Amino acid sequence: MNNIFETPPQRGVFYALRFMRKIEHIGIAVRDLKAANDSYTKLFNAAPYKLETVESESVSTSFFHIGETKIELLEATSDQSAIAKYIEKRGEGIHHIAYDVEDISAERERLISEGFQAIGEIKNGADNKLVCFFHPKSANGVLIELCQERV
Ligand code: ZN
Repeated sequence: MNNIFETPPQRGVFYALRFMRKIEHIGIAVRDLKAANDSYTKLFNAAPYKLETVESESVSTSFFHIGETKIELLEATSDQSAIAKYIEKRGEGIHHIAYDVEDISAERERLISEGFQAIGEIKNGADNKLVCFFHPKSANGVLIELCQERV
């Protein structure tokens, strides 16, 4: 096996560390945000640190800290919301995994060049983030979100 220190900078461990730094949060689609907040508050023994509606996405969200990562609960605010469609098709459950990136534009371009199918453009998301998405069929059935802290 190659020594990781010999890995070229454009690929491999260092690249991954630089661009996908951690799982920022896991998004869970719920039918009833208030009821879900109650359940998850009991689960974590801590209340959500943020409640936020994202009009452009037709979702209401809540966020819980779990150590270094977060859980995002998402409820649709309209039948046209992606969350409403998801729940209609698959029921409640894990909707996406969000990866924290340093440079969302560069990482989006990299994933596209690797054949991942982008959904839409980079936009403002909840929790003060720039976000973009990649189709679940690109990643074995899991919707991918990239997010970068907005400054
Ligand atoms: Zn998310």
